[in-house]
Amino acid sequence: MVSSTNNRKLKKFTKYRDVMAEINRKGAAIYREKEHGDQLVINFPYSVNYIHSYANDSKFFLGLADGKLFGSRCAKCDYVFATPRSHCMFCGEQTSWKLLPKKGKVHSWTTCEFGSEAFLRETPYNLALIEFAGVNSLFMTRLKDCSLDDIYVGMPVEARFARKPEYLVRDVWFVPSGSAGRK
Ligand SMILES: [Zn+2]
Repeated sequence: MVSSTNNRKLKKFTKYRDVMAEINRKGAAIYREKEHGDQLVINFPYSVNYIHSYANDSKFFLGLADGKLFGSRCAKCDYVFATPRSHCMFCGEQTSWKLLPKKGKVHSWTTCEFGSEAFLRETPYNLALIEFAGVNSLFMTRLKDCSLDDIYVGMPVEARFARKPEYLVRDVWFVPSGSAGRK
């Protein structure tokens, strides 16, 4: 039997990047947290195969793959939702699909300094609410091909769609109107 020795002792770090570097080397590290003391951090890979049905939302995602943005409209209220809903949030009626314009304007925006796993490579990134003519609600999306300083309220923007769809909401993003870039 091998007893535990000093070289098996985990090193302690105060900086996030040092903790991450050590985890990459050793699979574990101790983060010296000021208030709560030493915290063991490990690398714990896992994967999940999640079979998900888009059900009534399918047309939206199939639309993105086809370079189209679908919202929905309540015939009773004449209200158009930029983010499609199967039923009207005002009267509860079933809505019908409505093709949205690909061009809109920036209503508001923010820069995300932290991203979930899917967006880590492009973090920090800009997230914007887009308004469309004839549409009553806003569409939240990433705004690419521009720096934070370029963005302003009312800025004309247009949709871009992934060439290779993943059937995820990130298949669409917006860029300043006339921008050549795709990704
Ligand atoms: Zn309605």
